[in-house]
Amino acid sequence: MERRVVQITTVFMVIFTIVAGVTLFYLPKLHASQVAGQEEQVISENNENAGEVMSVDMTAQGEAEESIDFPQQICIALPEGVTEQDVTIMNQYLTQTIDIIFPGVDESYIYNHPIMGRSNNIDNLTFENEKDQGIIEITLDKVFEVQPTFKDGYLYMDFLAPHDIYDKVVVIDAGHGGRMPGATVQNKCEKDIDLAIALQLKQIFEENPNDKIGVYYTRTDDSNPSFEQRVGLANKADADIFISIHNNSTVSGKMSSINGTAVMYDELKEEIPCGTKTLAQICVDEVSGILGSRNRGIINGNEIYIIRNSEVPVALIEVGFMTNKTELDNLTSDDYQRKAAQGIYNAIMRAFNEGF
Ligand SMILES: [Zn+2]
Repeated sequence: MERRVVQITTVFMVIFTIVAGVTLFYLPKLHASQVAGQEEQVISENNENAGEVMSVDMTAQGEAEESIDFPQQICIALPEGVTEQDVTIMNQYLTQTIDIIFPGVDESYIYNHPIMGRSNNIDNLTFENEKDQGIIEITLDKVFEVQPTFKDGYLYMDFLAPHDIYDKVVVIDAGHGGRMPGATVQNKCEKDIDLAIALQLKQIFEENPNDKIGVYYTRTDDSNPSFEQRVGLANKADADIFISIHNNSTVSGKMSSINGTAVMYDELKEEIPCGTKTLAQICVDEVSGILGSRNRGIINGNEIYIIRNSEVPVALIEVGFMTNKTELDNLTSDDYQRKAAQGIYNAIMRAFNEGF
């Protein structure tokens, strides 16, 4: 979330309150081949004051949509002269927000160009404009990929669940971040090691392209998503596997001979059919195997928020001990980070092969 529009008093903000199962705008059909534009206007006109938040309750709309069967789609009328090249679509998976940014609008845009469409998964929709740029932000209740189609001055957006596109979905979480460094040993921060391994893993996925596997990351920079967002990404993407990358230290934080790789799982979750315990075992075997580190086995992790709240098979990998001199040296080297990432990659592939 790099971009945040500053709210200024002259900016209108329109909020559609949409409840699940309610049509955004009722349309019998809404595809790029359809002529759009004759639909009913449903934005209420309580815009006495600039800057006021306007609310449109959609709950009374779309009684008849039960029997309609077409993909989730919305349609946005673009301002005159605005073409595909002018439109930026930013999908922020972590927050399930999609921003559509385009020029050529003023604050009256949203009244003259109603947004049409249908989705059971829109929690919120806002419009803001700044200078001549308009931003429509859609907040969804799950992770969706967007497929845009531009036709005759309209932008049609289909929402596809990750599993509509991929056979397998994995979410990778680099621990800590931002102002939360995790363990800090000899001026080395765990968050940086966790991220470096996650980025190496990302590179391995990119070097081995497989369009059947969708990979999502909770962070690829020094940000610090909330625990809720991290596990939320896995749950809302209906991930098949959720991997969190961490590194260990002794309780005292003092250097010691304790070393090795361990993986945490949720000991309170049922192990049917492919569960967190099996996944954790695969991870610890693959990662310690490739690193040549001591295999410390799997550890109860139900007390950890992201493990306890994961609705999908989860493994939290403690790659090594930062409080061990040799492992700290290893963990801060590119080669070892790359190897650890390869071990995690191998574990993910093995888990998929074994039915996850
Ligand atoms: Zn950690």
